[in-house]
Amino acid sequence: MSRECNSGATVSLGRHKRTCSVCRHPQRAELEAAFIDWRSPAAIAEDYGLTDRASVYRHAHALGLFEKRRRNIRAALERIIEKAGDVDVTASAVVSAVQAYAKINGAGEWIDRTEIPSDKARYGSFYLLAEEAEKAVHKIIEEAASAEPGTEERKFGDVYASFMDEKRIEQLGARPLKPLLNEVDAIATPETLLATAGRFERRGMSGFFQLFIDNDPGDPERYLVFF
Ligand SMILES: [Zn+2]
Repeated sequence: MSRECNSGATVSLGRHKRTCSVCRHPQRAELEAAFIDWRSPAAIAEDYGLTDRASVYRHAHALGLFEKRRRNIRAALERIIEKAGDVDVTASAVVSAVQAYAKINGAGEWIDRTEIPSDKARYGSFYLLAEEAEKAVHKIIEEAASAEPGTEERKFGDVYASFMDEKRIEQLGARPLKPLLNEVDAIATPETLLATAGRFERRGMSGFFQLFIDNDPGDPERYLVFF
């Protein structure tokens, strides 16, 4: 990671603080966040009633804010490169992405705090959510294994137990599929093909059509059945 901008010349923090109007500013944190979010120093000076943008630069230099600001743009550019195949990379798209990233990352803390787990190629809040959800579901399913026999809950537990029973799976091999394969073998005409596909569909095996429910793209207040 390069640090050429704020480590080249060392600034005495004590001396800086004595003369810095940003350090003494009551909205200092907000002001620093604006800088890291790529708001222009001139605009910041105006927003927070500072005499000029030079004081913003001096403060940012003394406190190493340039590095945080750069980290946001670097991370945003990585995302842009990652997505370059899917979206039109125009100058305005790049600027929007950088600004959006800077907003999300705030004062650079997410990047500072977060380490990519060694078993993952990428990581983020949605991965975190998915992991937590997986753990919760695992616990629910394990508990379902000892639910009252015959209940819906117990059925989940039993299905899971049967998935995990490798010994029995090895023993049975493909035999449980035989009746279904026989039905497939019995297909001889377009009519029997359609009838078989229909029967399979009712048992949850997808065929020619896919049926699902999602938001109506024209009216997010309701759901629609999609083919
Ligand atoms: Zn300062």
